Amino acid sequence: MQAFQATQVYFDRAADLLGMDEQIRCALLTAKREVRVQIPVEMDDGSIRTLLGYRVQHDNSRGPMKGGLRYHADVDLDEVRALAALMTWKTAIVNIPYGGAKGGITVNPGTLSSKELERVTRKFVDQIHDVIGPQVDIPAPDMGTNYRVMSWLRNQWEKYHGFGPACVTGKPVEHYGVPGREEATGRGVGILAFKLIRRLGKQPRDIRVAIQGFGNVGTHTAKFLHEADFKVVAISDVSGAYVRENGLDIPDALRFALAHRGKLTGYANADHIPGDQLLTLDVDLLIPAALGNVITEQNVAAIQAEIILEAANGPIHPAADLVLQERGVTILPDILANAGGVTVSYFEWVQNLQHYKWGLDRVRQELDLVLSTAFEQVWQEAQEARISMRASAYKLAIERVHRATLLAGF
Ligand code: NAD
Repeated sequence: MQAFQATQVYFDRAADLLGMDEQIRCALLTAKREVRVQIPVEMDDGSIRTLLGYRVQHDNSRGPMKGGLRYHADVDLDEVRALAALMTWKTAIVNIPYGGAKGGITVNPGTLSSKELERVTRKFVDQIHDVIGPQVDIPAPDMGTNYRVMSWLRNQWEKYHGFGPACVTGKPVEHYGVPGREEATGRGVGILAFKLIRRLGKQPRDIRVAIQGFGNVGTHTAKFLHEADFKVVAISDVSGAYVRENGLDIPDALRFALAHRGKLTGYANADHIPGDQLLTLDVDLLIPAALGNVITEQNVAAIQAEIILEAANGPIHPAADLVLQERGVTILPDILANAGGVTVSYFEWVQNLQHYKWGLDRVRQELDLVLSTAFEQVWQEAQEARISMRASAYKLAIERVHRATLLAGF
């Protein structure tokens, strides 16, 4: 199943609950604009490489479109289209005045020098600058991109349009970024994990956690949960999984990763097991925070966790999702679970437009407020309608986008 088909399955399940007719479904699912551009770049050795870049703008009925920019070898139009639609539902659930978009370039950034990465980014902006901007579509970091890429993006966009730091978020704090953006997604996952287990009548100290992925999202999630007294017993990255039955020393693992270019390779203060075994460990809470489609029909029977928080985008295949639902596993869906990042991106954009700076405490307080409000709405709807939190989150989001679309008129 292609990535967009998977998001459509979840959309359709919620649209069925709403009794939505086929014409409206089609209007809400079809992207407003899809751009594919050629990016010819001169490499450091003088050769020319031609890359492909995409920007899909899914919906703008609730505000300017918003979504990350991914540099990865597997990026294609279908994946970008799926992620753009997820952004529309995500911004609607947390009720920030944005629509959804996503972009990407099919390239492994690890194979490029810093200068090549900069040239690729600037060339991409040359091709799409007239369809993005502070009031139209605002990119942000995603897999394979970071604050430096966002800085180049802003600088190149401003060459065409003049001063406008709100044209992109996830910028360095020195360049109109906000404190707390980098931690925001992982912190949000932590805040929501806390809310969820309290609603389930459990205490953090009784919850054994496994986290897949130790990058931006995984590290900040681990840090937050460790500080909140959860017992993080397993973490993983591309080098495999690291397990300690009595709970890992997360500050120690973070220091190790920091000293080893972000990797856990060689981490000796835990038992090392193959990476995919992390997913099937006997834990209470499983947090996939790396790739999409990691829980599938093939491994779903072996999943033991009773609670899953989707920190990554699309980690559960729809067929596996049905099996988990039937088994009574509580799943907090990606469109709510990882919405902390876009929420703090929104704060950055607001501050850029107002030329006003918030401190870290205010950013964290407002993030907590936005996520807690969204969580309570999704939780209540799920309880009252006796549906999964995924169905309730999609239902809430689709209703908001549908209503905004009707109010504006077709
Ligand atoms: P990242 O590139 O910083 O980190 C990815 C991590 O996953 C790395 O530790 C990498 O080693 C690990 N990994 C890769 N393949 C793996 C495998 N097979 N098994 C175990 N670990 C593996 O990326 P990120 O920004 O942390 O994003 C992670 C996920 O969260 C993605 O799905 C992304 O779309 C989603 N997300 C990120 C943000 C954000 O603000 N960064 C916001 C919303 C959603």
